[in-house]
Amino acid sequence: MSTLETTPDAVAEDLRQSVRGPLVGPSDPEYDEARKVYNGAVDRRPAAIVRVADVADVISCVDFARRHQIPLAVRGGGHHGAGFGVWDGAVVIDFADRRSTDVDPVAGTVRADAGCTWGDVDHATGAFGLATPSGFVSTTGVAGLTLGGGTGYLSRHYGLTVDNLVAADVVLADGTFVTADETSHPDLFWALRGGGGNFGVVTSFTFRCHPVGEGGEIVGGPVLYDMADAAEVFRWYRDVLPALPDDLNGWIGVLEVPAAAPFPEELWRRKVCGIVWCYSGPRERADEVLAPVRDFGSPLLTGLQPMPYSVLQSAFDGLLAPGLQWYWKADFYEEITDEAIVLHQRYGETIPTPLSTMHLYPISGAAARVPEDATAFAYRRGGWNGVIAGIDPDPANLERVTEWARDYWEGLHPTSAGGGYVNMMMAEGEERVRAAYRGNYQRLTEIKRRYDPYNLFRINQNIAPA
Ligand SMILES: Cc1cc2nc3c(=O)[nH]c(=O)nc-3n(C[C@H](O)[C@H](O)[C@H](O)COP(=O)(O)OP(=O)(O)OC[C@H]3O[C@@H](n4cnc5c(N)ncnc54)[C@H](O)[C@@H]3O)c2cc1C
Repeated sequence: MSTLETTPDAVAEDLRQSVRGPLVGPSDPEYDEARKVYNGAVDRRPAAIVRVADVADVISCVDFARRHQIPLAVRGGGHHGAGFGVWDGAVVIDFADRRSTDVDPVAGTVRADAGCTWGDVDHATGAFGLATPSGFVSTTGVAGLTLGGGTGYLSRHYGLTVDNLVAADVVLADGTFVTADETSHPDLFWALRGGGGNFGVVTSFTFRCHPVGEGGEIVGGPVLYDMADAAEVFRWYRDVLPALPDDLNGWIGVLEVPAAAPFPEELWRRKVCGIVWCYSGPRERADEVLAPVRDFGSPLLTGLQPMPYSVLQSAFDGLLAPGLQWYWKADFYEEITDEAIVLHQRYGETIPTPLSTMHLYPISGAAARVPEDATAFAYRRGGWNGVIAGIDPDPANLERVTEWARDYWEGLHPTSAGGGYVNMMMAEGEERVRAAYRGNYQRLTEIKRRYDPYNLFRINQNIAPA
């Protein structure tokens, strides 16, 4: 092992010799654009950003970083709130140019390169009336979302994203390349399903796909209620959701109505409590399944309608454009207590900026029938993945939205199950990572020791080797 006693420019020049994809270093005109990630509050200066052309480039970057003891960051879609996709002084493996997909409709699978967004995958599978469970925003990266777990519209119907991962191609810390699945490197495969980017660089993912709705068309959309009704809405939702069929999912939140079509102008900027529903079962049952939703309360707006799954998946893309300032905090909740409901209403009424919000994503139905130790993702007892996000375009408001998110989170935390979702936390230290994995943490540290004993892959929600 040798240490490169040189400037970032020299690092870039040295690595340039061994990669085929474009490399952007600090002196290149594209550098400032290339080092941006989704969260506009992140401002880091890597030594070199390699837009890898193939697996060979990934191996070259891993070997280079290991030999020269240079930090190594891996960027899939670049969406992580903590901005782990870039790091000061690091070599960045950037998958931006690796976005191909292959659907095998006979096997019912889709293979996706590590630079794909969920929009890429939805586009590919949608043509076959199929989908793989993912998240709620189509610009999110497949890689990071999958490696952390993946909660989304189809979680109750078909499980988390990790429950649908069939295989992953991985470059390990020593530069070797393996395919991990149930029979080949099963421990690694277990750890990849929730353990984040700690175990290797995944170059390609293969997922199981499922039929959704009618030829890929679901019935879904938002139902919004006055904030004054929030307590009643939360209580009804927490009581009714577990009894609903798996093919109906709905996340609840507090938010400000966007000041844009298709929302009626009289609701613009109004603080509301909302549930976004997705019914992904056969069309002939839609009316019956959605009847309890349509019959409840006095909504300000009911936006339920048939639409392609990919349309619901991308409904928030425009609002949540890259470059906004983000600060978010997460926890899992096994119940929504009356005490928590009081806080949801209180903090819902004081949402500090139009995009700041709180969401509770169900982890129930199929996602909760997977045993807690079947994958690294540990929170399977039925309940919700909760996130409180302070968001605004203006850096001057970052402190204000951060304070709101922190206070809200601190109030709710005693009602939580203890840990939060690694994909929706900032960099919050070892205790929070440990809590995120509860009973699975020890096994993760042992697998880490086997696959990455020197913690080369540490720019993430880090699991230190045992
Ligand atoms: C607007 C928005 C909406 C979201 N909605 C959801 C949602 O509905 N459901 C949900 O589950 N999550 C959601 N998330 C969270 C999301 O899962 C995480 O932000 C996730 O980390 C994004 O993955 P990425 O590849 O885009 O991120 P990146 O920042 O590129 O990577 C995230 C982490 O994964 C590692 N990583 C990336 N690529 C690889 C790779 N190829 N091999 C090994 N490690 C890698 C990185 O090093 C980093 O530690 C959302 C995030 C945002 C910003």
